[in-house]
Amino acid sequence: MKKLIDLHVHTTASDGTMTPIEVVKYAKLKNVIAIAITDHDTLAGYSELIHSNIDGVEIIPGIELSTEYRGELHILGYYINETDSFKKQLESQRDSRDVRNKRIIEKLNSIGMNITSEEVQEQAKGESIGRPHIGSVLINKGYCKRMDETFEKYIGEGKIAYVERQRISPEEGIAMILAAGGVPVLAHPKFLNLSFNKLDKLIERLKNEGLAGIEAYYSMNTVSETGEYLRLAIKHNLIATAGSDFHGKNKPEIDLGTGRGNMDYSYEIVKKLKQKAGRE
Ligand code: AMP
Ligand code: ZN
Ligand code: FE
Ligand code: FE
Repeated sequence: MKKLIDLHVHTTASDGTMTPIEVVKYAKLKNVIAIAITDHDTLAGYSELIHSNIDGVEIIPGIELSTEYRGELHILGYYINETDSFKKQLESQRDSRDVRNKRIIEKLNSIGMNITSEEVQEQAKGESIGRPHIGSVLINKGYCKRMDETFEKYIGEGKIAYVERQRISPEEGIAMILAAGGVPVLAHPKFLNLSFNKLDKLIERLKNEGLAGIEAYYSMNTVSETGEYLRLAIKHNLIATAGSDFHGKNKPEIDLGTGRGNMDYSYEIVKKLKQKAGRE
């Protein structure tokens, strides 16, 4: 069986549906030899794994930050050190989630949907609560059939119950990761919906702030998108990383290590990140 890697993985610490241990066991089963735990705004998933002992799966500490750039821009950070100041900054990010989540729930209530904060809290097994937890309640209560539909109809960007959250700038996100000794990488550029030229300019700007990589290989990319991102990686001397954005049942079409069946990337990428982080 081919050895795989996956550098974009969510657990129950944020909006994934498998616990950190379950994810690692599943990685072992699927021959994924290295995974980065990149939960939204929390390091708790990785912390849980520090004392776990599962042979054959290398676990990389990571993070996914939501920043503001004409909508959302996500930044991944690898080989983060759990400094007090980083943890404080994450706490404030999670606070801004809680404020926004409450307002989303109020909006849903105002259009006649019966949903409470307690119900959303119950869906969340970790400290970082997000829209998929709200979506799960909407599904359980029969308002929607699938998670996609909850975003399409209600909680996705620009939809009826959407609420903007207080977000940091991409530059602040990069600085935060660098200060914690991590390697900042632009996540899933496809969701920025930018032309090649605009993305090129944005990357140039972020590279000047210390951006070190771009998630060129992503489970939802088309072949031509991946080609564009690889060209940009070469042009700006960035590490081209690979991630599925595994969320378990919250994104049922995306599998660990293989994405939609189209991913199989080599350990060389991990080596480059490690080297960049000074962790070889
Ligand atoms: P939040 O971080 O709370 O703003 O929620 C956004 C997260 O929801 C994203 O990072 C994805 O993990 C997830 N998400 C966004 N759109 C969808 C979708 N259509 N289906 C499932 N999950 C989604
Ligand atoms: Zn997520
Ligand atoms: Fe993301
Ligand atoms: Fe993600």
